[in-house]
Amino acid sequence: MTDVISDDELLARADAVASRAYAPYSNFHVGCAVLARDGRVVEGVNVENAAYPLGVCAERTALARAVAEGYGPGDFVAVAITASPCGGCRQWLHEMEVERVVFRNGGRVVTMTTDELLPESFDFSNLA
Ligand SMILES: [Zn+2]
Repeated sequence: MTDVISDDELLARADAVASRAYAPYSNFHVGCAVLARDGRVVEGVNVENAAYPLGVCAERTALARAVAEGYGPGDFVAVAITASPCGGCRQWLHEMEVERVVFRNGGRVVTMTTDELLPESFDFSNLA
């Protein structure tokens, strides 16, 4: 089965939503669009806070929103991000078993699996 929308279209959705970021401190607006297996797209943006460490990345707001709407690990075909995901978000993408991650990095568009983004990662099997 082919995806309902292409990776390019998903990245365009991430680009479009980035303008809604709340980033008054860094002025670095990031958008994320998550494609679920049922064809639904859930978007997120980075949300900063005056207490800097409390800011949340676009990937996490998108995935948290998707989980709140009933999705979970294994439900995600692709995630598109307007910037390279940070280390913490790579852990989140791995936890949610996202098939592929598409993101901009230095003017290039990169597509990687979560294992490529975070090799030898920590997951639930390590908790046994
Ligand atoms: Zn992040």
